Amino acid sequence: MKAPAATGRGTDQGRGQERRMTGATVWLTGLPSAGKTTIATALAQRMAAEGHRVEVLDGDEIRTFLSAGLGFSRADRDANVQRVGFVAELLASHGVTVLVPVIAPYADSREAVRKRHQAEGTGYLEVHIATPVDVCSARDVKGLYARQAAGELSGLTGVDDPYEVPEEPDLRIETHDRTVEESALLLHGLLKERGLL
Ligand code: ADP
Repeated sequence: MKAPAATGRGTDQGRGQERRMTGATVWLTGLPSAGKTTIATALAQRMAAEGHRVEVLDGDEIRTFLSAGLGFSRADRDANVQRVGFVAELLASHGVTVLVPVIAPYADSREAVRKRHQAEGTGYLEVHIATPVDVCSARDVKGLYARQAAGELSGLTGVDDPYEVPEEPDLRIETHDRTVEESALLLHGLLKERGLL
């Protein structure tokens, strides 16, 4: 789906020249507590300070509003990813850099989102936030790993639910080897390298 040309991809009149406002989706996939949201937020702050239009599609907010009622079965996880992917593409096609820190555990769901972006001619990058499960479980931001270990929940991605590691992401970031700022800078560098900044 593409908006008509008149309201389609953003342009900016700068010094008499029409400049295309480049948007793209950057999907940060990885286990719970891997650092996806933290790194996305750090990158968004840096980009906003530079004057870019940037938006973080937060996984929890999405599940409260856009995907209310969806659970964590494979079908529901896929539906969630496709909905987020749809909104991200829409925003990105209007010149926004959309950062998506959402687990997206299944390779075919991620691939469908990439294909939709490619079909619309919208930039798309997949970034694997590759934090080992033992590090994630020690961070345990939301207490999910502890609850799973205590038998209070099941279906935790990477523990007793699948996580299909991206085989060829555009970038893989080992967060345990670097600071949040260093990871955000790596991502910033990738966007620049791909002409998306
Ligand atoms: P996710 O969005 O992947 O579930 P979060 O970003 O919400 O994960 O949580 C990651 C937690 O790990 C945060 O509390 C963050 O401060 C912490 N953390 C510690 N070291 C790092 C690091 N080097 N990179 C990213 N996050 C880190």
